[in-house]
Amino acid sequence: MTNKEEKKEERKIGSRGSLDGVPYFAVGNNELERQPKVGKTCICPNCKKRHKVSYGEDAKTGEVSTILAFVYCPKSGSSYLVAVNQKIL
Ligand SMILES: [Zn+2]
Repeated sequence: MTNKEEKKEERKIGSRGSLDGVPYFAVGNNELERQPKVGKTCICPNCKKRHKVSYGEDAKTGEVSTILAFVYCPKSGSSYLVAVNQKIL
C-alpha cells in the first residue's frame, strides 16, 4: 500500500457521490476491517439518534443475511445502510 492510499484510508470511510443524479456509496477493499462491529442499534445517518438495526434477506435462500445492515428512521420514513458484513460504515 502506498502512502497516498494510506492517507486516503485515514479519511472518512467510504465515499459518497452522485452519477447522473443516481446516488452511490463506494467502499474500498479492506477499508472496513478496522471499523467497529455493528450492534443491535446504530446511530442514524439522518437524525443522529439510535435506531434498531435490521437486515435484509439472502436473495437465494430467503434467510436473514447479515451482509447489509439498515436502520429505519421514523423522522424521514426512509431506511439507511449502516453496516456491511457487520462493520459500521
Ligand atoms: Zn433517524
